[in-house]
Amino acid sequence: MSAAAFNSLIRTLARSHVVGDATRDFSAVLSREFELEGLGDAALEGLLRHTGAEAGAILVARDEGMEALASHGLRGIDGLAASDHVRRVLRVDRTELLHVDAPDVIVDSLLVGQAAREILVAPVTFKSVPLGAIVLATPGEFGRDAVRLLEQLRADLGLAVNNALAHDRLERLAAVDPLTDAYNRRFGLARLREEYSRAVRAENPLGILMLDLDHFKTVNDTYGHLVGDRVLRAVAGACRRVVREGDVLIRYGGEEFLVLLPGAGAADVKQVGERIRRAVAETFVEDGDLRVGVTVSLGGTTFREDAESADSLIAEADRALYEAKVSGRDRLVLA
Ligand code: GH3
Ligand code: MG
Ligand code: MG
Repeated sequence: MSAAAFNSLIRTLARSHVVGDATRDFSAVLSREFELEGLGDAALEGLLRHTGAEAGAILVARDEGMEALASHGLRGIDGLAASDHVRRVLRVDRTELLHVDAPDVIVDSLLVGQAAREILVAPVTFKSVPLGAIVLATPGEFGRDAVRLLEQLRADLGLAVNNALAHDRLERLAAVDPLTDAYNRRFGLARLREEYSRAVRAENPLGILMLDLDHFKTVNDTYGHLVGDRVLRAVAGACRRVVREGDVLIRYGGEEFLVLLPGAGAADVKQVGERIRRAVAETFVEDGDLRVGVTVSLGGTTFREDAESADSLIAEADRALYEAKVSGRDRLVLA
C-alpha cells in the first residue's frame, strides 16, 4: 500500500514538474510576441505541443465579431466562431471537454483527414472580460493533465491577448485620424515613401490623387463646425467606397486628402479621380430638413521614371489641384 502511495506521490510530483515547465515555456513564448498575429501562431503552437492536441484554433473578439487568429488542422474555421459551444463557454466562462460520440454533441469542426474524438473549448478572458476562445481537438483522448494544464495556459494567454489588443489599439491611434478613419498625415507620408520605393524597385506605376473640398469654409460658416465635421467624414466614406482594396486614403490636412493608388497608371488615376469626384458630389449630410452637399477638386499624377522623389509627386499633384481650383472647381486635373 505504501509503495502504491509512494508511486502516486512521485507521479503527482513529476506531473507538477511537467506542468511547471510547460507553463514557464508557454509564458516565455507569449512574452516574446507583442503583435496579435504573431501571438496567435506562437500560442497555438505551444498549446498543441503541451496538450498533445492534433489540431486547434485560437479565436479573438475584434471589431464586433470573433475571428480566427491562428488555426491548425481544423476544417470549417469560419463556422467555429459562431458555434454554440464557443458562445456557451464564453458565457459561462468555463472550459468544456466535448466527447464527440456523446449524443448531444454536434461537432462543428473536424480534424482534417480524420474524426476528432475529443474537443476542448476554453474561454480566453482577462479580468473576467471575454477576449476569445481556444479550441483543441484530438482523435484520441485528452488526459486529465492536459485539461488541467490548459487552465493555466489560458490564463497566461488571456493576459497576453489583452496586451496585444491594447498594442493594436495604440498602433491604430497613432496611425489613424479619428474623425475620418483615414491614415493621418504622418503615417500616410510614411506609406507614400514605402509605396514610392516599391514602385521604383518594381518599375511599377504609382498613382497619386490630392483632393480638397470646395468652399468648405462656407459650409462651416453656414451650418456650423459640427456639420462640417460630418461632411468631412462623409467625404472620406465616399472616397473609401470607390477606391480599390490596397489603395490608401490619407487625411493630408484639415480638408485635404491624399489617395495613393499603387499600380495605377495615368488612365487609372483619371478613372478613380472621376469616380471620387462624382461620389462626393452625390453625397449629402442631413441637417434637420437641410441636405448639405459639397464638391471636391482633385489633382492627379503618376510616378514616372524621371520623378525625383515622393515629395516631387506630391508637389505635382498639388499643382494640378491648384489648376482644378482656379479653372472652376468640382473637377479633376492631371499633371
Ligand atoms: P477652396 O474651394 O478654395 O478650397 O475654399 P475653402 O473654403 O475650402 O478653402 P479654405 O482653405 O479657405 O478653408 C478650408 C476650411 O476648412 C477652413 C477650416 O475651418 C476648415 N476645416 C479644416 N479642418 C476642419 C475640420 O476638421 N473640421 C471642420 N469642420 N472644418 C475644417
Ligand atoms: Mg484647403
Ligand atoms: Mg478647400
